Amino acid sequence: MHARSVPKNLRRWRQRPFLRRITLPAHTVDCPECGLRTAVPELKQGHQADCPRCGHELVRVENRPFVTPLALASAALVLLLCVYGSMFMTVSMIGVNERLTLPFMLEVLVLQDFGFLAEVMFVFTFGLPLLFLLLCLYVYAALQIKRPLPGLIAATRTMVRLREWVMADVFLISTLVAYIKLGDVVNVAFGAAFWLMFPMVLLLLRTTQAVPEHWVYYQIHRLHGHTTVYADTGGKTCCSRCRWFGPSEESHCRVCGTALFARRPGSLRLSLAFLLAAAVFYIPANTLPIMISSNPTVTEVSTIMGGILFMWDSGDRAIAAIIFSASVVIPVLKIFIMGFLLLCARYGVPWDIKKVSLLYRITEKIGRWSMIDIFVVIILMSAFHTPIARVTPGPASLYFCLVVLLTMLSVHFFDPRLLWDKYEAGETWTGTRLKLPRPSENAASTK
Ligand SMILES: [Zn+2]
Ligand SMILES: [Zn+2]
Repeated sequence: MHARSVPKNLRRWRQRPFLRRITLPAHTVDCPECGLRTAVPELKQGHQADCPRCGHELVRVENRPFVTPLALASAALVLLLCVYGSMFMTVSMIGVNERLTLPFMLEVLVLQDFGFLAEVMFVFTFGLPLLFLLLCLYVYAALQIKRPLPGLIAATRTMVRLREWVMADVFLISTLVAYIKLGDVVNVAFGAAFWLMFPMVLLLLRTTQAVPEHWVYYQIHRLHGHTTVYADTGGKTCCSRCRWFGPSEESHCRVCGTALFARRPGSLRLSLAFLLAAAVFYIPANTLPIMISSNPTVTEVSTIMGGILFMWDSGDRAIAAIIFSASVVIPVLKIFIMGFLLLCARYGVPWDIKKVSLLYRITEKIGRWSMIDIFVVIILMSAFHTPIARVTPGPASLYFCLVVLLTMLSVHFFDPRLLWDKYEAGETWTGTRLKLPRPSENAASTK
């Protein structure tokens, strides 16, 4: 009989017991949305601390912080590969069956010289989700085996940034819209890929929520042998990305490696530049044709509004309403709200700051849903690409894509803390407001 040795991983666990204990010690954090410095108590599994002033999530520890993201990301990855490998839908028209897979749809776009649309679709529905999941597996595998694998911090940085650019859910809703549009003309039967897309999207969205960067960076930092908590001890700046403190005179954060600043430099100018570009491109996006559909007898050229009115008149009112919201209401509202927020950040906040801050959050969340119209055109195009019936995207689709991406960038570069700074200073458009007393103690509310 051999004496059983202690397993390797268990040995390491005994040497560094804090790694398994998962908790975050009590420390201070600056809210990334309103800039309030807050004392966060010690957090255990399943705890979350929110900003006492604006309600933004500050710090979260998952219930099973190491295993949940690994399990979710692996399952989502398997489903993503299945979705791309199996049949998406079959379109039958006058005795011809067209079997569409997602790679085939991309091929159609590339063959017809719509490389840019193919890239947009590939990047947002496959490339970025795939990269996000692989990075997630890499980072959490390193945490699980407790080894500081090479490039771990860069991988985490990219993983965290990719979260807002994953658009698989928007693509799924676009498929439903396209299905209702197609249903009038042809028979559509969904394949396995379509049905697998529902659980894939749910798992993907859940994975994006299961990777709280503040906690992840803390764990990585401990893997590298740093046991101190970077907290505010005077002369330090809270990193906007990882929310750990670094010396104010340093240009880059010691923990996550991104630029260290109290307020994003040039935030208003960058945000305004992207917003103006989006507003300019919105004009050709509406006046030029977005979709050209043709059969041997008729060629129909439709603009965004023309398409919506046509659907409304022919009875597809629900679809007309969805496309109207996604292509007209959301972009226009977003451009106006961003303009208003920029004015507030420059000249002062005329309303209740909570309402203004809510406007910012709404614009941040809804922007990507404007891509519905683009994805619908792509799906219709892949379904009709024979000489008998052909749908091609018009030039407006390119401009519309740019509008969506530019408004997303405008929101990305806008630093919402500037709004709260103006509010703190008591500045409004009409003059200076009476200053409100600040709450005596800033302690995060935990749940
Ligand atoms: Zn806050
Ligand atoms: Zn950082």
